[in-house]
Amino acid sequence: MKKHWHKLDPTLLERMKSEVQSVFSNLHFYPAKDRVFIRGSFPVIHEGKILDRYSIEIELPRNYPESLPIVREVGGRIPQTADRHINPTGEACLFLPDERWKVCHPGSSLLDFLNGPVRNFFVGQSLVELGQPWPFGEWSHASVGIIEYYAELLGTKDLATILRYLDYLSKPKIKGHWKCPCGSGRRLRNCHFEELKDLRTKVRQDDAQRSRQRLISLTKTLETVGGGE
Ligand SMILES: [Zn+2]
Ligand SMILES: [Zn+2]
Repeated sequence: MKKHWHKLDPTLLERMKSEVQSVFSNLHFYPAKDRVFIRGSFPVIHEGKILDRYSIEIELPRNYPESLPIVREVGGRIPQTADRHINPTGEACLFLPDERWKVCHPGSSLLDFLNGPVRNFFVGQSLVELGQPWPFGEWSHASVGIIEYYAELLGTKDLATILRYLDYLSKPKIKGHWKCPCGSGRRLRNCHFEELKDLRTKVRQDDAQRSRQRLISLTKTLETVGGGE
């Protein structure tokens, strides 16, 4: 059986641990069989001051960093609802995986992850508790968030166009003679070929596929309900 990353290179885990604990001394590492858990008190730091603390658990899955870390608030403080960006499984929804190229670029460290999306998530939670809106222009949760994200990325709110783009982003290859997803009727090579190639270096195929499936099932639900808007 293939060894897991933290057993393949034990020094990697040690380096990660000392880097994280130099900033977050209350986070402790618990290597398990095929994954690593990190548990403890996470301080929400703003301009050098600790504003708040959350009890958290972070799971580094067996194929980390290919798979993103899973973050859970374990103190029972955040209601497990969509408007608080908690998935039904209790996992924190830090950002849409499709935008990981921007939020959590390849090669960034676990410390970057904690200082970036994890910190922002808990700053947001503390502000929402105080009755304030999400501070970072957050996308809505679930399918609506996917539409909002691609509407901004592609510059269109048209669901059919977004779905055509997601189809091309999901494919292993795209060809210049295909129809451009923008709806101009022109061939890709005479239209948005370069833009699409650039997008494909950012949005991962598996993320695009997942989002496409979610939007397709959303469309079907709307048709069943009879809304269709
Ligand atoms: Zn969410
Ligand atoms: Zn086009």
